[in-house]
Amino acid sequence: MRIIFIGPPGVGKGTQSQKLVEFLNIPHISTGDMLRQAQRDGSELGKLAADQMNQGQLVADPIVVKMVGHRLSQPDCNDGYLLDGFPRTLGQAEALNASLEAVGKSLDVVLMLEVDQEELFRRLLDRAVKEDRVDDTPETIRRRMQVYADRTAPLVGYYSGCEMLHRIDGMGSPDEVFARIHRVLEQVARKKRASGEVFAALKKKS
Ligand code: AMP
Repeated sequence: MRIIFIGPPGVGKGTQSQKLVEFLNIPHISTGDMLRQAQRDGSELGKLAADQMNQGQLVADPIVVKMVGHRLSQPDCNDGYLLDGFPRTLGQAEALNASLEAVGKSLDVVLMLEVDQEELFRRLLDRAVKEDRVDDTPETIRRRMQVYADRTAPLVGYYSGCEMLHRIDGMGSPDEVFARIHRVLEQVARKKRASGEVFAALKKKS
């Protein structure tokens, strides 16, 4: 299954992604993790991304698209993957769509995780203490939320034109949230079996 996971920073995507990839046994492709690793490695990519990441801004589309394209071309992605934190802009969504179409593939499901604003702040501040992330200061948290609203939230419109988008209530315990995701995946799998085919491919927005 090819799955996209979208949601604002702190919504619990990381926790749910972990559960999901263990359950489905597919690679977990987190662009945030890949970029943080590149920074730790001191690679050219890490250096290019560092300023934008530390300021809570998005890394430029061509850099991220190239990084993901390279990762998806590896053999372990042949039978599916979970994309966590990508796409984050319309440009990235269109690039992903084009590269999938070029190889005759399409996404199976887009999961959109949502919690209310107060709970988001609470989770982000909690993570800042536990994980010691340099981009989890109150100022960058605010900026990342704004960036999400401006650049990533429009993806809902992009994906809601097809049957792939599923909004998931992210309130409650990790197990409760995962049970909701599981129900959606069962529904998707049932539809796929019934139609014998994956959902219609996305059309580029003009
Ligand atoms: P995350 O761990 O997903 O919250 O990502 C941490 C940071 O990495 C973000 O605030 C961005 O600076 C950068 N980043 C991760 N994924 C992307 C993406 N798809 N496009 C642009 N920047 C990204």
